[in-house]
Amino acid sequence: MINKLRIKLTIYNTVILILFLFIFSIIIYILMDKHVFNRLDKNLASAAERVESLCELPAVPINCIYILRDEHLDITNYSLAPITQSGSAFDKLTGSYAEKALITNSTFHVDLDVENRGKIRILSVPVEKNGQKGVVQVLINIDREISFLANLLTTLIALNLFSILMLGIINWLLVGRSLIPVKESWQQQKDFIADASHELRTPLSVIQANIDVLISNKDSNIADNMKWLNNIHSETELMSRLTNDLLFLAKKDANQIEFQKAYFDLSKTVNDVLEEMRASFVHKNIKLEQKIENNIFFFGDEFRIRQLLLIHLDNALKYTTSGGKVFVSLVGKENEALIKVKDTGIGLADGEKELIFNRFYRADKARSREEGGFGLGLSIAGWILQEHNGSIQVETKLGEGSSFNITLPLKYLN
Ligand code: ADP
Repeated sequence: MINKLRIKLTIYNTVILILFLFIFSIIIYILMDKHVFNRLDKNLASAAERVESLCELPAVPINCIYILRDEHLDITNYSLAPITQSGSAFDKLTGSYAEKALITNSTFHVDLDVENRGKIRILSVPVEKNGQKGVVQVLINIDREISFLANLLTTLIALNLFSILMLGIINWLLVGRSLIPVKESWQQQKDFIADASHELRTPLSVIQANIDVLISNKDSNIADNMKWLNNIHSETELMSRLTNDLLFLAKKDANQIEFQKAYFDLSKTVNDVLEEMRASFVHKNIKLEQKIENNIFFFGDEFRIRQLLLIHLDNALKYTTSGGKVFVSLVGKENEALIKVKDTGIGLADGEKELIFNRFYRADKARSREEGGFGLGLSIAGWILQEHNGSIQVETKLGEGSSFNITLPLKYLN
């Protein structure tokens, strides 16, 4: 699908560029043609103007042949040998142009192919010199101009052909480059769907298995089957959490989540979240310590910052064993607020701390699932942080614990 798109875009881009180049080449050719022949016609006209008498050729020799004719169209003078003799076919032809100029009393030019002389332009100008009517004809060879234009045309055609090849290759490479993010997000989308379906399959098959047991126990009462019903209940809860997270990420990807930013008391928010979570820590016999600096105000979406804190605290709770300790601190610096969530939990192996922010990544799959995790929390938290121009740094050691150090810029205004 991406390759087809690449081919299509390359063809469209190349065709448009070639079209422009083609039109540009035609314009250049037409302008050059006009320029060359306008200059030539000017030269011919000024050569004709130099004739002062119908019997006398102008003194300044220029690269033209003159034929001077009287009102009967007889040749009165000419420079160089006329191309053909009097009475010849060429003479008759030039005579007929002279006649036309005389009758219409207008100047005009004609291009002729003359044997052994190449292409000749003939300008016929009706004149009246010293009371005598006649025609001045100026002839000039235009082979040089024609071959210049032919060379220009060949060059332009060659340039166009070369451009088709070059533009095709360049476009192919550029389109390939610009499609990299599309390719990545396409792949991401595919992975997302595959991972999501995979995650949904596990609770579904657990539910299925429990329902099968219930069906086989159809003669027993509900109280006897509470174990299976509880299993189904907790799996459906898991599924509902997963679908909520998936929906959230899908909305995020479609840019449908809006941040409601305002100044709020970050110190109070952190304290509130800690109070909300305290019971869960007590329940798991994990010591929760805190050092929260007061009156730190932050410009951002309070609801999302709360969500981010809950994700980190929930992880600290999930990945710390009973008897462990979790320490949370908030410190305000001149330009930033530093939040630290440090635990004495299971920690992470080398190289894993870069991966945990990826969707569906779980360092310890079995444990995460046991704790009800899908590997989506940190990718959501990472995105919230990014939207607030914040950053995170993870210090961790396998078996000893982890510390998630969040930095939020206080002077960030959006
Ligand atoms: P989950 O729902 O699986 O916790 P997260 O995206 O929140 O998903 O975390 C991704 C993975 O990072 C977890 O599965 C876990 O392996 C690891 N992780 C996150 N927080 C901690 C922590 N405090 N200590 C050890 N491992 C952690």
